[in-house]
Amino acid sequence: MKLESFVRGQWAAPGREVVDIRSAVTGEVVAQASGGGLDMRELLAFARTTGGKNLRPLTFHQRADMLKKLGQYLTERKDQLYKLSFQTGATRIDNMIDVDGGISTLFAYASKGRRELPNAKFLFDGAVESLSKGGNFIGRHILAPMHGVAVHINAFNFPCWGMLEKLAPALLAGVPVVTKPATVTSYVAHALARMIAVSGILPEGAFQFIIGSTGDLFDHLTCQDVVSFTGSAETSQKLQRHPVIAREAVRFIAERDSLNAAILAPDAVPGTPEFDLFIKEVAKEMTVKAGQKCTAIRRAFAPSVHTDAVISAVRERLAKITIGNPELETVRMGPLVGLDQRRDLLAHVTTLRAEAELVAGDPNNFAVEGADADRGAFVPPMLLHCADPARATSVHEIEAFGPVCTVMGYRDLEQAITLTNRGGGSLVASVYTHAIGIAADLVFGISCFHGRLVIIDRDCAREQTGHGSPMPQMVHGGPGRAGGGEELGGIRSLHHYMQRTALQGSPRMLTSVTGGWSKGAPIIEKDRHPFRYHFEDLDIGQTFLSKERTITLDDIEHFAHFTGDTFYAHMDEEATKNHPFFPGRVAHGYLLLSFAAGLFVDPDPGPVLANYGLDSLRFVKPVQPGEAIKVRLTAKEKSPRNKQYGEVRWDVEITTATDETAATYELLTMNAVRP
Ligand code: NAP
Repeated sequence: MKLESFVRGQWAAPGREVVDIRSAVTGEVVAQASGGGLDMRELLAFARTTGGKNLRPLTFHQRADMLKKLGQYLTERKDQLYKLSFQTGATRIDNMIDVDGGISTLFAYASKGRRELPNAKFLFDGAVESLSKGGNFIGRHILAPMHGVAVHINAFNFPCWGMLEKLAPALLAGVPVVTKPATVTSYVAHALARMIAVSGILPEGAFQFIIGSTGDLFDHLTCQDVVSFTGSAETSQKLQRHPVIAREAVRFIAERDSLNAAILAPDAVPGTPEFDLFIKEVAKEMTVKAGQKCTAIRRAFAPSVHTDAVISAVRERLAKITIGNPELETVRMGPLVGLDQRRDLLAHVTTLRAEAELVAGDPNNFAVEGADADRGAFVPPMLLHCADPARATSVHEIEAFGPVCTVMGYRDLEQAITLTNRGGGSLVASVYTHAIGIAADLVFGISCFHGRLVIIDRDCAREQTGHGSPMPQMVHGGPGRAGGGEELGGIRSLHHYMQRTALQGSPRMLTSVTGGWSKGAPIIEKDRHPFRYHFEDLDIGQTFLSKERTITLDDIEHFAHFTGDTFYAHMDEEATKNHPFFPGRVAHGYLLLSFAAGLFVDPDPGPVLANYGLDSLRFVKPVQPGEAIKVRLTAKEKSPRNKQYGEVRWDVEITTATDETAATYELLTMNAVRP
């Protein structure tokens, strides 16, 4: 199989840098990467001009639909990826994490894009800020897609997930992607890239794929580009030192290696569910993907009195792991990705053994099923025990990227925290405890050194997603040694590909420019009530101004008894004496909301299908019996949902007869589109 780059809309001619790629299982050549010779300046220009110009006019919803379509297209063809991936050493379960995990990230972003983003081309970040006394100068942060390229450089261990989890947020943000896989597993990434290209789902220029070296690509980066790198600390540092990165302030997201910890808490003694969960997770993290996961547990901490029990329980589990040809159903752990990785891993284990004893797994003596142990990159899972972790250094510094983990004892929680943080910044740590106080001490002791923390106990045992699985909804990344980068985390990952701009001006100007109505901007009053307008006919700024309604003491008492809310501030004048907020008995906030609805609602059947919630509700000023209220209801933002209806966000302000604001909120309705 010859692997080529996909640039400027076509497959490039084979380059002169030819690299043989060998099967992790048999050692035979399975593919040839022929890279080099690409004009990187032109490739980037194509992404910026053609790709960016094709993506930016699309709305978030259109881009989300594109991701969904791509996910469906890849799902139908995923078996081809499975088949190739076996050669990388991945078992069927490993493939599910890589292939299905990658595709499900596309679906997750497609769904988030549809549900959580407006059908617009930019995002608001936060609320309107008032910047002047008179209300004629306001500010609001917006996020708009950068006019550059998302350069994605991936590690070898997840050729599909790595590519897709970076691709989804960048494309959803509206930024074209140039992706470079690690060479050793690039034949799987190549097959995926081919599917993406052949599908024709992405607009021209939105996706390019580089086999082999990136040549002088970094020389042509600008302040509008974003590099997202996953791999070793060494390569990351080298790339971050590139003069153009500093000169142009190019955003650089680094996801690097990590000495992730699992902590068995003092309450999780042998025999408790948490002890068993800890053992299971340590053994699983050592063997899934043959331990070649940036999130794998490298350091397992347990109270010193329990380290022997931990070692024998993990050892027992590891003894059941069949190593061999990953295509066999009986095999639980395949080889490392290649012989180079095996050599590096064994060298690291040798270094670790100067400080830790090997207590399970002999690299010179283990069984391999269905494959030749000398030709494939096989190793057994290796468990080490470090008796003096406080003095040891290598166990906290060397990432043996394979099925290797070191068990270490700790004296008390304080020491557990100190030892854990010696990882120097990690992607993830997991804590096994059912005791809330212990969990809280650990969380606040180690969270600043970790991008993600998982507390695993009996309550979430069956549903927890595991120590090592980054979820699209949650941030993946970590401080310090882990690179200091962030990926995923739901919609926040789009922000890496967008510029946040503080937009300031008059309410009229900001409303017109952004399409989001702000208080102080002109309102539009029409003959008919705004609820009589179909989704597409409703104008932003269209407003209904209600009549007044006086709130009586009877109203308050009736509401209190009817709802059961007899809170003293509504019922007992005496009890409100010297109250810091209330001048006497006041109306319920919910009464104000209910009366407001009664004042603004247009009752007849019509285009407004449903009220589905309120956002940003604030009760600003108490309203006393005898006072009158009135309401302003203004169409603030619109976002189509589907062919039948769209969401309307209304700005609602309840004021007193003297125009003092009593409450503000945003009302959400679903409005039908014209039949
Ligand atoms: P690596 O050797 O640093 O390579 C990572 C990527 O960088 C590969 O695509 C590689 O391409 C590319 N690269 C190397 N030199 C480059 C250069 N001068 N210019 C541009 N690109 C260059 O890392 P790896 O061995 O593939 O991955 C293993 C490491 O990644 C482990 O340390 C692991 O912990 C880490 N990792 C971290 C995460 C995370 O999310 N934090 C996830 C997975 C893995 P070639 O293959 O063509 O050299």
